Amino acid sequence: MLRTGATLAEEESRPDRARAEALLGEFESSGKGWFWETARDGTVSYVSESVARTIGREAEDLVGRAFTDLTSTEVSDGGATSERTLGFYLSSHVAFQDLIVRAKTKNETWWSISGRPVHDEVGRFFGFRGFASDLTKMRQSEVELDRLARQDSLTGLANREALRRALDDALVGAARRKHRCSVFLLDLDRFKVVNDTLGHPAGDTLLRLVALRLRDTIGELGQVGRLGGDEFEVVLPSTSSQADLSILAQGIIDSLSRPYTINGTMVSIGASVGIVTSDYDDRTSDDLMRDADLALYAAKGAGKGCYRFFAPEMHEAARERQVMESDLRLALEKDELKLMFQPCVDASNEAVTGFEALIRWHHPEHGLVSPATFIPLAEEIGFINEIGEWVLRTACEEAAKWPQQISIAVNLSPIQFKLPSLPSRVRAILSETGLAAKRLELEITEGVFLSNDEHVHDMISSLKDIGVKLALDDFGTGYSSLSYLLRVPFDKIKIDRSFVTGASDLEGRNAALIRAMVGLASDLRMQTTAEGVETDEELQLVRNLGCSLVQGYIFGKPMAPDEALALANKGAATLPAKLPPREARIRIIRAALLHHQGRVLGARLRNISSGGALVECREEVAAGARIELDFAAGGLIEAEVRWVKGTQFGCQFKETFNLRLLQQLAPAAPKPQPVMSPHYLSSGAVGGDK
Ligand code: C2E
Ligand code: CA
Ligand code: CA
Repeated sequence: MLRTGATLAEEESRPDRARAEALLGEFESSGKGWFWETARDGTVSYVSESVARTIGREAEDLVGRAFTDLTSTEVSDGGATSERTLGFYLSSHVAFQDLIVRAKTKNETWWSISGRPVHDEVGRFFGFRGFASDLTKMRQSEVELDRLARQDSLTGLANREALRRALDDALVGAARRKHRCSVFLLDLDRFKVVNDTLGHPAGDTLLRLVALRLRDTIGELGQVGRLGGDEFEVVLPSTSSQADLSILAQGIIDSLSRPYTINGTMVSIGASVGIVTSDYDDRTSDDLMRDADLALYAAKGAGKGCYRFFAPEMHEAARERQVMESDLRLALEKDELKLMFQPCVDASNEAVTGFEALIRWHHPEHGLVSPATFIPLAEEIGFINEIGEWVLRTACEEAAKWPQQISIAVNLSPIQFKLPSLPSRVRAILSETGLAAKRLELEITEGVFLSNDEHVHDMISSLKDIGVKLALDDFGTGYSSLSYLLRVPFDKIKIDRSFVTGASDLEGRNAALIRAMVGLASDLRMQTTAEGVETDEELQLVRNLGCSLVQGYIFGKPMAPDEALALANKGAATLPAKLPPREARIRIIRAALLHHQGRVLGARLRNISSGGALVECREEVAAGARIELDFAAGGLIEAEVRWVKGTQFGCQFKETFNLRLLQQLAPAAPKPQPVMSPHYLSSGAVGGDK
């Protein structure tokens, strides 16, 4: 019908009908649509050639066949097809518009057909005439759009919307087939660290790798998807036994915890999993997701890297948490927060050098709530900045009452450290309270280094500009970290209690670690505080290892402000004498003979108390060895070696030694001088929180 080669002039000369035909042909050949006509009985009387081509026939072949034969009754992909069929309209002689039908072709082809009945002059039905357009491309992109709308673009996994549908379907299927379905809710542990330290592209790569491993582990058992961030979900339509779910969850944790290599860097993360299984009840997918969330919260609370099944008690715990949250918001107003102060002393002379402010919450119903519980809660609900500001002001107000040389240490949450206004707040509080900047020490943990480096360094230098001191708290427990020490001008590092506790064996691992930390810190001209020193042995140890400051129950528990003030006033020189005296230790230099395993060795006493002595001996003596000492003080003294460090060892006498014997019997000995205050505070004697 297309008249190729016809000139415009020729076209001009044609009569109207011919022009109409030409336009028709032009349109038909454009592929945008086609025309059709049926006879009274619904058979084709005219159809554009393009349609015949689509169907793989000649137009003439189609004439005389039922028009409905060109279309398929099959509805395949769930897209919108018209409810009433073409046959219905044709036989009922009703006009129709945009009827979506599938062509009877091998390749998927979709048409939108419109048609209206034609009548002759006397109104008799004559047949149908109509127009159709090809929808194939549009429908394909619709399907594509639909697919994209259900897919997480980063990982290619199902997205939140698709997961929701999958869970709805699983619930319907489970009810119908009388079984149960389950959901895993997953959260990656330490993902944020990777993202913050290696950058977002590396974080994205990691998420893709996680997606692959997850898909591998789950296989055909269910639908894996990503909810956003580092949160993933698995819908398991027909897995419900605890044993199977446990194995699967552990499999996921193990798989995701294997190291990843990203741009040549080895990265390790973990995963926590919350599990919920539908019961034959009326819980909706929303209910299940909320329960899975509680189970996940429990898994993370249990120390991460583990899975937890949902249990109904978790609702009660969540409710309590919510009550706690709202109580905490009011605690400041209701004056339920208090500060306690724990002394920090100089390891060499036991003078009080400062106090650490430690917050307490006196809850009207729950009593004393540990900061280890409510500080994380305050961080979670975004209330830590208010609390932190209050702590800072209250601590500085108290410290301003103390003698000039005594400092105050205040703990800062990593969240406070992110606040750009922190330096100006610190400045303002110092000037309001009149405390000299150098007396304020801010304690931060390695947690602050987990976010954007540049910001951290800016913050550190702004704070240092004010003149306050910086301490690295809980050193050794984090992501270790010696590199922070090299990069950040800390004034002090505080060695975590976990290294000090039970570290009295000088050869042990903890002692070696403390020695390394102290060595590094002193090279960098930083002080070291040993935290949590409780016993004499621990004190002796951290002192021998060279820690410059000591903080722990042995010198005092956190105490109320008035007690701290009293101690500050006295303790700058010596600690209060009213407390039970600790046994004196006397520095001495005296030759001694050491009897050990049938041999007699030369040795030298360095200090002595009624319970034991510090001895120097060139020969090797092992910890635990039984020895006898002769230092001209009334015969052989039996003792046991408790620790050895190089040529020195500490020993404990089997029986109490009378120190007076030493003075009476040894006029040649140098005059004994006390080096340690004979009366430092004994554990539990001061304060009384906990
Ligand atoms: P931290 O900063 O490491 O504080 C030292 C903790 O060890 C305190 O626990 C203290 O009471 C305890 N401690 C001190 N000496 C000994 C000892 O000899 N033996 C034992 N077993 N424990 C000892 P506390 O007061 O319960 O505080 C726990 C943590 O809560 C603190 O650990 C700190 O991280 C946080 N915290 C406390 N107050 C604040 C605050 O005002 N702001 C912020 N952001 N965190 C705070
Ligand atoms: Ca601290
Ligand atoms: Ca600490």
